[in-house]
Amino acid sequence: MVEQLKCLIQFQILEDKKARLIRSCAETPLRIAELMKEFEEFEAEYRSRKAEYEHAKKMHRSLEQEIVDLENKIRRSKQRMGEVKTNKEYQAILKEIEELQKEKSRREDGTLEFMDRIESLSHELKVAEAEIEQRRKKLEEDKRALEIEKEKLDSRLEKIESIQARVRARLDPEILRRSESLMKKQAGIAVAPVENGVCKVCHLNIPPQKFIELQRDEKIHQCPHCHRFIYWPGHEAYCIHEEDLEDL
Ligand SMILES: [Zn+2]
Repeated sequence: MVEQLKCLIQFQILEDKKARLIRSCAETPLRIAELMKEFEEFEAEYRSRKAEYEHAKKMHRSLEQEIVDLENKIRRSKQRMGEVKTNKEYQAILKEIEELQKEKSRREDGTLEFMDRIESLSHELKVAEAEIEQRRKKLEEDKRALEIEKEKLDSRLEKIESIQARVRARLDPEILRRSESLMKKQAGIAVAPVENGVCKVCHLNIPPQKFIELQRDEKIHQCPHCHRFIYWPGHEAYCIHEEDLEDL
């Protein structure tokens, strides 16, 4: 086993884990924002219903005022009936009163419609208010749960970083430099297994002679195509699992 190669594999596994944790951490504020957006949409719908309710109440009040005004006009017209001199004038006032009564009746129908609307909206609003309270509570709970999850992820990340620092300290500075440069240039992957003579990351064949040398396991090799460090997983020492790294 080439100790430095084993360290490189460990370093890579930790790097992958770190990247996954960083991605998960970044998701938390997005998920919280999504939950808040959902809540705010519901609240906005409630506010628009509430505005409709206020409008219906206003319309109802103004129709009632119009009815009072029409009743006053009718009363004044009736008073004028006693003062008319001719039948023609009398007929005209009768006609006027009839029109005013019709107007009043239309307004009365209108107030009934608004009263129905006000009643049903008032019921809807009560239901929505209860739901908003429920949703607000749920939102706070979900936010808290996500924050706790985030704290766990953060401390996990810290742990991984400290393990990685120990592995880094064991790596030869030149190999570490090459590994970090490969990670930067090659999509975050600096080490690749080679199986059946094929680099499992770039999927190209390595020359048979190089594959034989790789299996001999005497020194560190690189893929001639993607230049990543390569290893043969047939050597058990290089088959490392994430959980094996916990005690490093
Ligand atoms: Zn390759």
